Amino acid sequence: MKISMYSTKPWVRQSFAPLAEKHGAQFTWLEPRLEISTADLAIGNNVVCAFVNDQIDASVMERLKQQGIRLVALRCAGYNNIDLNAASRLGIGVVRVPAYSPYAVAEHALGLMLCLNRKFHRSWARLREGNFSLDGLLGFDMRGKTVGVVGTGRIGQVLCTMLRGLGCKVLAYDIAPDAALAATGVEYATLDRLYRESDIISLHCPLTKDTVHMVGAKALAIMKPGVMLINTSRGPLIDTRAVIRSLKSGAVGYLGLDVYKEEQGLFFEDRTNQVIQDDVFVRLQTFPNVLITAHQAFFTKEAVDNIAETTMENIKEFLETGACKNLVSA
Ligand code: NAD
Repeated sequence: MKISMYSTKPWVRQSFAPLAEKHGAQFTWLEPRLEISTADLAIGNNVVCAFVNDQIDASVMERLKQQGIRLVALRCAGYNNIDLNAASRLGIGVVRVPAYSPYAVAEHALGLMLCLNRKFHRSWARLREGNFSLDGLLGFDMRGKTVGVVGTGRIGQVLCTMLRGLGCKVLAYDIAPDAALAATGVEYATLDRLYRESDIISLHCPLTKDTVHMVGAKALAIMKPGVMLINTSRGPLIDTRAVIRSLKSGAVGYLGLDVYKEEQGLFFEDRTNQVIQDDVFVRLQTFPNVLITAHQAFFTKEAVDNIAETTMENIKEFLETGACKNLVSA
């Protein structure tokens, strides 16, 4: 198997390179993202391995087909960046890693909640300046608060369990509620009720045409004043401009993001010496009650190792049998 590894970072190489011998793989390490201008770099290989911000639309698929690519192996769970219809029309398989560590992402979501609540980021910065004042650092007990979890799949379920452990009341919404989770004391509710009653809302559903801007002006209008919003799922679930208006009015009290609608042009790169051109992102960073991490919720040792191992198994299975349990279809 000859694999073009797009969006290669040092950690990608460190996790995949040791598996080359075991799986008989030859890697071509490519730093650029996969998009139309870089698709030709896949020449000479039969598999492309891509990540969350690679843009694999119909034109890229067609170019990959011309290069002899048989498989696009995503080293992530979400597949909203792929044109699956084009893949199926061209006979290119698409595989993903559906689960690698739901704990990593759920723990990160909880971390954002606790940090925003108790303002670790602000007190850390203050202490370095010799400011030991507590003014503005008042938090609240998590115990007894109502947390709304939207999407109770692998990650949402782990988060629900952790929140129950903290003594929170957990309201959940999912298009396919899970009876076993409900039996643990998590209460399923309508999305409308979840929005109205939750002190904290955390998003864990996939990006689909139904979930784009699910948190927009209409939803924000019915949320509790001062609500905390957490998004570790996909950026477009939130209408960022609408949330900024609610942050300015105080209707949203806290915002924790690990994903951002326009993250493709920002995340995963060192931009220390650049002027950030995205004014919406820069505005978000001016709020003391907004905490942003750059799509790192998945980033634990366990998750990264599982991603590499499962990706290699997916590729092997597909190339040997033409099928794979982790195949994604339109
Ligand atoms: P999952 O497939 O196990 O669960 C998703 C859940 O969302 C399912 O229960 C599904 O029924 C539900 N759902 C689908 N459409 C819905 C809708 N319209 N409204 C409410 N619920 C809906 O997925 P998961 O492993 O729990 O991951 C959830 C999401 O987290 C992924 O789609 C991905 O976008 C994101 N993610 C982010 C990171 C990160 O590093 N930030 C890492 C992994 C996954």
